[in-house]
Amino acid sequence: MLYPPIKNFIGGQFVSSESSRTLEVVSPIDGQSLSTVPLSTANDLNNAVSIANAAFAGWSKTPIKERVQVFFRYKFLLEKHVKELAQLVHEENGKTMNEAIAEIEKCIELTEFACSLPQLVTGEVLEVSRGVECRTEHVPLGVVASIVPFNFPSMVPNWTIPNAIALGNCMILKPSEKVPLSAGRIAELLKEAGLPDGVFNIVHGDVEMVEAICDHPDIEAVSFVGSTKVAKIVYQRATHNYKRCLALGGAKNHLMVMPDAIPGMTAQNVAASMSGCAGQRCMAASAMVAVGEVDHIIQKIVEEARKIIPGENLGPVINKESKERIEKYITEAEQQGAKILLDGRGTTVYGKEAGTYIGPTVIDHVKPDMSVATEEIFGPVISIMRTKTVDEALVIENANPYGNAASVFTQNGGVARYIIDRASAGMIGVNVGVPVPREPFSFGGWNESKFGVGDITGKSSIEFWTKLKKSTIKWNPEAGVNWMS
Ligand code: NAD
Repeated sequence: MLYPPIKNFIGGQFVSSESSRTLEVVSPIDGQSLSTVPLSTANDLNNAVSIANAAFAGWSKTPIKERVQVFFRYKFLLEKHVKELAQLVHEENGKTMNEAIAEIEKCIELTEFACSLPQLVTGEVLEVSRGVECRTEHVPLGVVASIVPFNFPSMVPNWTIPNAIALGNCMILKPSEKVPLSAGRIAELLKEAGLPDGVFNIVHGDVEMVEAICDHPDIEAVSFVGSTKVAKIVYQRATHNYKRCLALGGAKNHLMVMPDAIPGMTAQNVAASMSGCAGQRCMAASAMVAVGEVDHIIQKIVEEARKIIPGENLGPVINKESKERIEKYITEAEQQGAKILLDGRGTTVYGKEAGTYIGPTVIDHVKPDMSVATEEIFGPVISIMRTKTVDEALVIENANPYGNAASVFTQNGGVARYIIDRASAGMIGVNVGVPVPREPFSFGGWNESKFGVGDITGKSSIEFWTKLKKSTIKWNPEAGVNWMS
């Protein structure tokens, strides 16, 4: 094992779980054993929540301008440790070092946003009638939980940690059991930045821990990021227990390519979007709708995809089960009559034979009812469907149950606007393959890509992580003068 066994982080200390259940953490790069992660018990969670609850009394009363000072220091620590943090992400998730560095840079940007929160949470005040004023204040909720997936071991936790904590909450983070290493380093840096013990806690685990979080009476809000299947379970269970919940799910993002798209730029964007982080991004292009005569662009996409080499500029998928599942999708599409223009099945990387690599895969002439067209594949695979018109392309995009992202490649502003207005997705790109809004714009999809109100980042997150107190105040101007003078 490269690292010692992982522990929970409770009350500012790394502590052992009382559970005897553990899982091995394996690097998808080469199958190396990295560590073991505890599958903690409900009792471990109880301890963490009671310590977080105790910390909430002091943290929630700390003025926000003081609270964000921790995040200014945390941002500098992230900057100082970019390479080391990226190395952990690279080892446990498998993405390339460049992708891992980009992930940590995104954490820095998210933290910068949190540092701006004092400017954004000022309440409102108005004299609503003579001598009477109404005012609002954003009040923290209490102990909140953040449950995160494997594909961004550092960025997704940092979607929630800086904002929720700067707004005065105390947090329990439940990392993905597949990539539990980065979270511990985040905890150490938050402590070094001056975050009081108990404000941020980590409880590792699997399904049982998620269920315990959803059921815990002292957890006020749950944010979840992961697959749609689990997002639905978590949303239903947490809200059934009267908690606030925002649950982000999976995706099937469509890129609509018009005949007037710039071929080179479009091909680069499509290839990068489908294969970045080995296609394991909820914003990855997974389906492309080729409108009209675009064969010359498809040819260029294949040329670009050929430049993406497993083990060099393409990391592995997370594990053997994922690799098998993705290869099965490709085989099914082939059997159903689709044409494989570039085949990533059966890829091994010399010297890393135990790694779980799949080469970039381009599948053409996919029919809208095939499984590669309708289901999230989460691998470096793009399924190309052909239509004659923009409206046909929109019918395909609109019919998919997800709604994270959609993009259009065109030089025609009218066509772009037509698609922005009609695509059923929360985040739209125009000549952009991965249309992630940058801070301060918020991140969040529609339909089965998100359950709950509002978005997880940006200003929208203020509404999720706080409750609004409204005061109506009347002072008698004649009173209290004598004893003051
Ligand atoms: P996942 O749903 O399997 O796991 C997410 C979390 O839920 C993990 O912490 C895991 O321990 C827990 N979990 C797993 N199964 C559970 C169950 N049956 N009951 C309760 N908890 C359970 O997701 P993943 O495989 O880790 O991540 C990939 C998925 O996440 C993809 O579908 C991807 O699109 C999605 N994702 C979405 C976004 C977004 O912004 N919408 C961002 C990143 C990832």
